[in-house]
Amino acid sequence: MSSRRPLIAGNWKMNGLRADADLLVSGLAARYKALSAPAFDMLLCPPATLVATVAAQAAGSGLKVGGQDCHRNEKGAHTGDISAWMLRDIGAGYVIVGHSERRQDHAETNAVVKDKAQAAQAAGLVAVICIGETEAERDRGETLRVVADQVRGSMPAGSTAENTVLAYEPVWAIGTGRTPTPDDVAEVHAEIRKVAAEVLGSAAQQLKILYGGSVKPSNAMEFLGLTDVDGALVGGASLKVDDFWAIAEAV
Ligand code: PGA
Repeated sequence: MSSRRPLIAGNWKMNGLRADADLLVSGLAARYKALSAPAFDMLLCPPATLVATVAAQAAGSGLKVGGQDCHRNEKGAHTGDISAWMLRDIGAGYVIVGHSERRQDHAETNAVVKDKAQAAQAAGLVAVICIGETEAERDRGETLRVVADQVRGSMPAGSTAENTVLAYEPVWAIGTGRTPTPDDVAEVHAEIRKVAAEVLGSAAQQLKILYGGSVKPSNAMEFLGLTDVDGALVGGASLKVDDFWAIAEAV
């Protein structure tokens, strides 16, 4: 039994208008508040336009709120970008960095992701650092090496088990309905914890490592029951109150 408190995180990606946020947050907040002693933390990461709204709606419910990305600098001439300090200012406590869609769509390297994570930590946010192999890398048998390289390359030296969460998301499992086997996930998560110990030392035992990629109510239990899996990062299924809640209940 570990003392790591499970984290169920929803990544809304580029989805949601104000009316959607109203429905989602009110539904989840009511259920979360109704638990006398929730056994898990629940985190909502809406698009940047909704972070302030969701933070206001979630106030007093115990739900946590985060952004989906941040710039590596605090401020300056970066049109269209948002800093970790800005997210913090509007009520975020977390920010996702290094999501594979950012790595692909915006050519973000491990070095960029590390800088973003460092900015998030400096701003007082928890950095949710995403890593994961592509299908070609898995087919070549490189999964463990790729993921280890990403942990080493993306995790800042100042990381702690409190200001950092890692999320293992195989790129080929995101939004596809396909998932690795529980044995595969268990093996990768154990490797991630081992490599994270190079930075964290024994505190790596307290680090939360989430699984993400096509998590649904029907498969949540098989992943959330694994020793080194401390929660889930959920995309599509986090946009429906019932589905997201059912995943959390699998904890
Ligand atoms: P998915 O996305 O649950 O829709 O596969 C997960 C993610 O990208 O975080």
